[in-house]
Amino acid sequence: MGYIIAEAITADCLSYLPRWMLTDDKKIKTFHLTTFGCQMNLADSSTLVAGLTTRGYRRVDQESEADLIILNTCSVREKAEQRVLGRLGDLSRLKKSRPGVRIAVVGCMAQRLGSELVEAIPCVDYVLGTDRVFELPDVIEGREGTSSVMTAFGHENVDQIEPVRETPYSGFVTISRGCDNFCSYCIVPYVRGRELSHSVEHILASVEKMAADGVVEIMLLGQNVNSYCYKDCDFPELLQRVAHETDIPRIRFMTSHPKDLSPRLIETLASEPKLMPHVHLPLQSGSDAVLERMGRRYTCDHYRKIVDSLRTALDYVSITTDLIVGFPGERIEDYEMTLQTVREIQFDAAFMFRYSVRPGTRAARFDDDVPEDEKIERLNHLIELQKSVSLERNQREVGQVRWSMVEGYSRRSREYGRARTEGNKTVLFKTDQPEVGQILPLRINSADAFTLHGEPTEVS
Ligand code: SF4
Repeated sequence: MGYIIAEAITADCLSYLPRWMLTDDKKIKTFHLTTFGCQMNLADSSTLVAGLTTRGYRRVDQESEADLIILNTCSVREKAEQRVLGRLGDLSRLKKSRPGVRIAVVGCMAQRLGSELVEAIPCVDYVLGTDRVFELPDVIEGREGTSSVMTAFGHENVDQIEPVRETPYSGFVTISRGCDNFCSYCIVPYVRGRELSHSVEHILASVEKMAADGVVEIMLLGQNVNSYCYKDCDFPELLQRVAHETDIPRIRFMTSHPKDLSPRLIETLASEPKLMPHVHLPLQSGSDAVLERMGRRYTCDHYRKIVDSLRTALDYVSITTDLIVGFPGERIEDYEMTLQTVREIQFDAAFMFRYSVRPGTRAARFDDDVPEDEKIERLNHLIELQKSVSLERNQREVGQVRWSMVEGYSRRSREYGRARTEGNKTVLFKTDQPEVGQILPLRINSADAFTLHGEPTEVS
């Protein structure tokens, strides 16, 4: 593993001054934070920002203005780690010109590599694993009981982690941390630890606080929300309690595991109007043989039945997924089953990846036998297929009215507003001044594979 790091860091790094000369007396006042990876990381970053600003540290937009540069990292794919290593290469050069700047690597990659990171990349000052991220303010202040490398698992009380809103109108509330599933390709259970559910009371209080602060939509987050369990409360009951016992108008959740998505959850989705009709349900492969090697513990047929039940129970539901191509042992017939399943199920959207080995996982011991150029070809073809399916799904929305939450201006034009439909699709509409957080009925007039276009309409 060390050689991977060494590759990304230039020889400049090796000519550094000893650590004691780098950690000068300059007091940290400002920080810059970059987040890599998933929404769990975004949620953790929001909480970390709140923790630092509460202590008087100021967030800045430019790394050049920061006394402390934080990278909240992802280990899920090799590419994600390579991006972090690339950034650390840049920061090594930056630190040469500004030896007083401190660099913190936190999150999944910090958890996976621990002190090896500091040994291999001398410019890194702090390494805090996934369960220690929120202790960064204590660490930089040198509080008793802290050290510059902390990767032990275990919060005495996970409920002490206060969620923070992401934007003025939306927020993440983490309902569980870690994962017990150990899918053969996945590093998450090793870097995020075993599954631990937050208490119902903590979740309700967090959501209610956000609602009182003006948040319109919350995302309940967990690696596998369907296996949420706190005392006698399971996930469908939690959703009902959040819907009935808080004033939050819109509720989303992510991520669902097909083996744990119960009929009761489908009933709850169908009966509770505050729950947005969007389910992100990673399929990963359309071949049962590959699913078995992945350790997913469901068959493609089981997955299809869930989709059928969702589409029968709900008038409208958007279903998105994750797919991996080129998993060890994936024959062309297996890959074609994935293509066929994508054609049949008609996902609204999909995140698609080619398999990359994650050291330490079970699949790392498998023969990674699909050549890289074949993986790329399979992936490109799958992306093209999904693009045509997404286009077809989006065009079905034309003529419908979707209640959409306004998020701001279109990223490309100040003449258009950007909103999010109930099904989690981006819709653009003409406006001079989008009213952020407003929920508008938008009639969909046209659609491409990625975006809907609509206009405000009257509804009775
Ligand atoms: S369910 Fe599987 S893929 Fe998802 S985080 Fe857990 S181990 Fe990883």
